[in-house]
Amino acid sequence: MTEKILKCPVCEAEKFSLFLEVRDYFLTKEDFLIQHCNACGFKFVNPRPDKASIDRYYQSDEYISHDSQKAGFISRIYTIARRVSIRNKYNIVNAFAGKGKILDIGCGTGEFLNYCTTKNFEVAGVEPNSKAGDFARRVNHIPVVSDLNDLEAAKGSMNCITMWHVLEHVHDLNATLEVIKGLLNPDGVFIVAVPNSTSWDARKYGKFWAAYDVPRHLYHFDKDTMKKLVTKHGFEILKTIPQKLDAYYVSMLSEKYQSGRNRYLKSFAAGFLSNFMAGKPDRGHSSQIFVLSMKKA
Ligand SMILES: [Zn+2]
Repeated sequence: MTEKILKCPVCEAEKFSLFLEVRDYFLTKEDFLIQHCNACGFKFVNPRPDKASIDRYYQSDEYISHDSQKAGFISRIYTIARRVSIRNKYNIVNAFAGKGKILDIGCGTGEFLNYCTTKNFEVAGVEPNSKAGDFARRVNHIPVVSDLNDLEAAKGSMNCITMWHVLEHVHDLNATLEVIKGLLNPDGVFIVAVPNSTSWDARKYGKFWAAYDVPRHLYHFDKDTMKKLVTKHGFEILKTIPQKLDAYYVSMLSEKYQSGRNRYLKSFAAGFLSNFMAGKPDRGHSSQIFVLSMKKA
């Protein structure tokens, strides 16, 4: 079933305009509308598949595991990028959160959490995809639940909660942020990475921008709308950190969606330019990490 958003999830206004019509290039080739809120500018897929019917848009092994054994240039690059990215994520966690319990929501096969255990963090994960969750449990020995709401008993115990490119997939945006707030201890940090729809590469590629990834990405954030949303839930942004590698990866996919071919040089140039042009305040990098803490009264 499809469902319609009637109130802006960020500001609760009720008037929206069409922003862009985008195709699901990755899987179904279906078209979706991205609307933006007339009051605050927040962008979202509307109408959208509801929670019960979104599964079929994830029916691709590639989406879940990015199989590293597959030959090919992109896969090799991806494997290296993943290794670098796990280390970068860990460095951010380590810089902002003291040692303690870390919860990764949307932990996938658990590679990031596995790395954290080698650094003496106590870890837990949430992963709705049963195949990925099983792998995390069996191979990486991570305690994983399938639903965030199963963690009631862990209230107030998390020193750090991470969501690496996951929040844009979550239907119940506001409810999820409230649960996260409840799970964090008073000094805990919440680290959330999302694509940035005002980045240079988003503007360059328009409807071909791979990080629209409809309808899997239900929401399309930028710095302003993220700030409004998290402020509403009592968080403040301690720091915004760019994910520079994403500009290359997203440009590579976007070029492919646009032209039907792999255009490595063009993609590299676009990724480089996106990072180079990110400095303007209304722009930012292709993907950004927000480090948040509870606002002290
Ligand atoms: Zn709004």
